[in-house]
Amino acid sequence: MITVQKSLFENQTAIIQMISSGMPLKKILTFLMDSIENSGDSFGWHGAIMLYNPLLNQLGETVSSSLPINFINSIEPVEVSPYGGACGTAAFLKQPVTVTDIESNPLCEKDRHTAIVHGLRACFSIPVLSSKKELVGIIALYSREVGKPNEEILNAVDFYSKLVSLAIEISNSSTNRSFQYSFEGNKCLNGSNEKVLIELNTALESEEFEVYYQPYFGVNEQLLGVEALIRWNHPHLGLLSPASFLSIAEETGFILDIEKWVLTQSIYKLKKLHQSGWPDLSLSVNISAQQFDNPRFPEVVAELLERMSFPPRNLTLEVTERFLIHQENIDIVNRLRAIGIKLSIDDFGTSYSSFQYLKDLKVDEIKIDRSFISNLEMDKISQKIVKMIITLGHQLNLNIVAEGVETQKQLQILKKMKCDSIQGFLFSKPIPFDHFKKMSFTK
Ligand code: C2E
Ligand code: MG
Ligand code: MG
Repeated sequence: MITVQKSLFENQTAIIQMISSGMPLKKILTFLMDSIENSGDSFGWHGAIMLYNPLLNQLGETVSSSLPINFINSIEPVEVSPYGGACGTAAFLKQPVTVTDIESNPLCEKDRHTAIVHGLRACFSIPVLSSKKELVGIIALYSREVGKPNEEILNAVDFYSKLVSLAIEISNSSTNRSFQYSFEGNKCLNGSNEKVLIELNTALESEEFEVYYQPYFGVNEQLLGVEALIRWNHPHLGLLSPASFLSIAEETGFILDIEKWVLTQSIYKLKKLHQSGWPDLSLSVNISAQQFDNPRFPEVVAELLERMSFPPRNLTLEVTERFLIHQENIDIVNRLRAIGIKLSIDDFGTSYSSFQYLKDLKVDEIKIDRSFISNLEMDKISQKIVKMIITLGHQLNLNIVAEGVETQKQLQILKKMKCDSIQGFLFSKPIPFDHFKKMSFTK
């Protein structure tokens, strides 16, 4: 007992020194997580600390040295809600949640399969609260055996969670001093786009942006291509999704630089995949309407493709229905298609003039918006709309992609309706490039 207390005391001193020396938060949290795992006879419980992102109301930025990386990637980000599994629920209730058997507990419905595949059978999630009792993260412990943690582990978690909270709180407060504004949804709170623009520029220069890749498949589940989706590894706020910064980028015109960067990066990476056993993989890149204000846009893309020896037929540019149809835009679309590049209408069905687009714009593909797909199982009207889009699209020789497919049942319905391609969490979330090669997709 005395030895246990001594090591707790020594660890506590070491952690406080780490915090006061300004060591990066992730390093401190890794040390803390290792300390929890090695305390007493907590052998068999492996854990992670997930940071809370209040802007997205999600848990992400996971720190763990012992849980399988594929498991972490597939559960992250965790929604803070009663439907967010054991971790999301613990964060939502600000109460510990114990799941003694992942296989039978209804809380684990969403991630059960992933956990079982990785041999994880029980889970214990503890919210980490700040001194003001606000959620700052969670500690999640998993065991390969059915059951709950013993007294010794509970004591260790209780002791270390206070240090986890201290480390996060101090890191957040020093962040807030240097970080003058914050994002909320799509808005910059202090209204100063100029500051955001400086931050975005710095982010581009410091390589804080990263392209994630979400695969899409044919109905026989063969991999056809990937969609490039931007992320911002913000030094203080963690991983930001495009929703939190793209509209500011659009307002400031910075979107043009970001998109050029995304195009260059993703073509370069896809070229690498072409050379390493995926020779015909297609790439889809989202493009904002502003690109079409530049009459040289088709030449810019053509030059890029030529420089990288990337076949134009393997590139699809996705525009949303917010894209305005002017004569100049139609010309640019036609010139892009003349180069061999494909055009796709993203989020199809969300605007009132969806079908007008098909009349005026010659495109190759439509992507049926996720809102129709998520209602497909229950809602007969969504079923009829989707069926109609597919039938009409086929008559116009368009490739039809369903976005946001999350369940087997949705997949079966779409197969029956003869939808051509499928994209969604059922197969894969967007993943960093390095993870792509490790996944076993059917070619
Ligand atoms: P999008 O092009 O319609 O991309 C699909 C979005 O739906 C992605 O969100 C993806 O993560 C998400 N998603 C895919 N499958 C599922 C699913 O099964 N369930 C659920 N719940 N979501 C799913 P993400 O990555 O946050 O991107 C959001 C939007 O940001 C994109 O919508 C796209 O319009 C825009 N975006 C992303 N990267 C870029 C870029 O480089 N340029 C431009 N202009 N826009 C971009
Ligand atoms: Mg898209
Ligand atoms: Mg979409």
